[in-house]
Amino acid sequence: MRHPQLSIIILLTAFLGGCSSTETVFHERFFALGTLIEVSIYGADPTLAARASEQLEQELLTMQSSWHAWQPGALASTNEQLAGMQPFTPDPSILPLLQEAGHLSQLSRGLFNPVIGKLVALWGFHDNPLPVGTLPDTDAIATLVAQAPATDDVSFTGTRLVNRNPAVSYDLGAFAKGYAIDRAIERLREFGIENAIVNAGGDLRAIGQHGDRSWRIGIRQPRQSGILASIEIDGDTSVFTSGDYERFFEVDGKRYHHIIDPRSGYPADQTISVTVVHDNATTADAAATALFVAGPEDWVEIARSMHIGLVMLIDANGVIHMNPAMQSRIRFEPDNTAEIRLSEPLS
Ligand code: ADP
Ligand code: MG
Repeated sequence: MRHPQLSIIILLTAFLGGCSSTETVFHERFFALGTLIEVSIYGADPTLAARASEQLEQELLTMQSSWHAWQPGALASTNEQLAGMQPFTPDPSILPLLQEAGHLSQLSRGLFNPVIGKLVALWGFHDNPLPVGTLPDTDAIATLVAQAPATDDVSFTGTRLVNRNPAVSYDLGAFAKGYAIDRAIERLREFGIENAIVNAGGDLRAIGQHGDRSWRIGIRQPRQSGILASIEIDGDTSVFTSGDYERFFEVDGKRYHHIIDPRSGYPADQTISVTVVHDNATTADAAATALFVAGPEDWVEIARSMHIGLVMLIDANGVIHMNPAMQSRIRFEPDNTAEIRLSEPLS
């Protein structure tokens, strides 16, 4: 299971004093998608907010089982059928998810690669940890890398799928949370709710505002407790962080974490964390993973290709990289001493 540490904290308390006393705030917390979900709704009738939140919980639990890569459900049976290499029609509920994953993978030039489930499993991140002190078999990694599973190995003809590469196995862990949050926000809007935050283990999307204020989101230090910086958001904004501290093990003092570079088959080791700010959560989630893999040399190119406008990347040496637009939005804590390196503008 994932590490419970949240990479992002919502600094609401700083502003709540500024809200009018008539501002209604509704909070609910529950576990879904393998993490703690916090739904916060502002300025809505409390009964309506409770009903909406209750429905979200049910829907997120359904998504969790049908999108799970290795527990029984629609995605797991899709993977079984893909392995059979015969055309088939998957559960229609997951088709849009697979198509969106393919689209984002293309934009990321394959660095966000949602069909490397076999590699992720080889590293023990499908709840199948390796014996303590051991690494996966190097030949098995090399074989999967040589087979180069890619989303365009699967073609979609109407609702039918055809797989051309036996190494393909979907693992939507890098973007399903974003996709689920987007569906959750759509559902809240259907309930007539316009001001809300859906926070899944520190990754979130906010809509509207509370009172006449924007929200300030704190970004955690990746290697110690406390906050590194904070960013003000309002309107319709998602903030997603991918970090090497979320799930990892160590062998001989080296950290092996859950974000795999599909080109090498090993955990991407040039990055500690990436925070992406974007309007929709699906793209923000996929991009945080892709830019993590791209690392300090290539993140600008991949961010442009994915149409991302606000990025902060902390590299393996602790240097903070970001684009100028991000710098103008982010406020570092006064005790931050890390070097900050600005990129060219992203657009
Ligand atoms: P988290 O889920 O901790 O927020 P990410 O969004 O970065 O982190 O997703 C990491 C998960 O995505 C891994 O646990 C694995 O299931 C899957 N994954 C690992 N590497 C990649 C990759 N390069 N592209 C797509 N999915 C990946
Ligand atoms: Mg992600």
